[in-house]
Amino acid sequence: MRVALIAVGDEILSGDTVNTNASWLAERLTEAGATVSRITVVPDDVSEIARVVNEYRAAYERVIVTGGLGPTHDDMTMEAVAAAFGTELAADEEVERWLTEGGGYSGDDLAPGTTHIPERAEMLPNPEGVAPGCTIENVYVLPGVPAEMRAMFELIADEFGGTQKHRAVVEAAEPESQLLDRVREVQEQFGVKVGSYPGEYVRLRIQSTDKDAVEAAADWLTERVESPE
Ligand code: ATP
Ligand code: MG
Repeated sequence: MRVALIAVGDEILSGDTVNTNASWLAERLTEAGATVSRITVVPDDVSEIARVVNEYRAAYERVIVTGGLGPTHDDMTMEAVAAAFGTELAADEEVERWLTEGGGYSGDDLAPGTTHIPERAEMLPNPEGVAPGCTIENVYVLPGVPAEMRAMFELIADEFGGTQKHRAVVEAAEPESQLLDRVREVQEQFGVKVGSYPGEYVRLRIQSTDKDAVEAAADWLTERVESPE
């Protein structure tokens, strides 16, 4: 399953906020066997958000959008998602019920727009906050506040899966360029994918849906690279 992540917010583009939502989601999705194919950050701008949502909902099986919920002036994600689906925002009865019965709010306490989600969308309750999320077809709209985003993701985590990938890491105390032949050979011989991540040592990350192949490839490499220390 190919998944695209869209983070909304000028504060991410300016460097004020680090996009930890995307890295957390990418890790969870990858663990679940999904493939994260895109991570994109867009500004607080209805047409920019709508354009990317529209492109990605056609190109990927699932799209997760985070941030820009709630009724304040800079929160325009819901409006943009509605636009991407050619629909409008509308007050949602379930959101209203959830806020008044579960959240203890009365209709008058709520800022206008709090109960609005795109028509045809289903609301996702926010276990940690006030602004609900929603799903519409293959697009999932989650809050920006990390604790809220994570809690809401747990409600939909089951819908993201794929063939479980197995991984192993072998560290090599050699220059990356020297390892190329062995990396190529291990990929060919065991049918695994190997990523190479230089740092103090080079981390060779072996990946495959075949657990035995990963283990055999890791053993093969361990015997053939200079290990740290
Ligand atoms: P609220 O309803 O409180 O306005 P929201 O869903 O509209 O929340 P934003 O307004 O986009 O979310 O962001 C709220 C806060 O969450 C930001 O100030 C920022 O600190 C944090 N945040 C937003 N997006 C991300 C992200 N992608 N990664 C990490 N933190 C984020
Ligand atoms: Mg906000």
